[in-house]
Amino acid sequence: MKNCLFCKIAAGELTSKIVYDSENIIAFHDINPQAPVHILIIPKIHISTLNDLKPEHKKLMGELILVAKKLAQKEGISDAGYRTGFNCNEAGGQTVYHIHLHLLGGRDFGWPPG
Ligand code: AMP
Ligand code: ZN
Repeated sequence: MKNCLFCKIAAGELTSKIVYDSENIIAFHDINPQAPVHILIIPKIHISTLNDLKPEHKKLMGELILVAKKLAQKEGISDAGYRTGFNCNEAGGQTVYHIHLHLLGGRDFGWPPG
């Protein structure tokens, strides 16, 4: 999609610190990390928000979550624990409208989140 920041990252048109790259998914370091480990995992196809998910995205989104698990292991935060999350729309704190899974770790997190 034109003018989508994360589509540009997925297409290699914008530089980012990529930590995972497969046929359908790419993951990279968040530019403004909120924890020692803060990675964004995205599908390469453009999906704006969680609200736009369709049954045909089931496999893709399952894959996305498995990438989070794999990267948590790779980053050494699996045993201590970590936080994952999708922000959806304004009240959910979404600022980039290309669906992404946040993977955060390396510190303790509170609950409920702010
Ligand atoms: P959200 O607020 O859930 O939409 O998350 C968007 C995230 O994208 C924020 O944590 C930003 O710091 C991050 N972000 C914005 N631009 C970039 C970029 N060019 N490269 C990496 N992360 C980015
Ligand atoms: Zn996009």
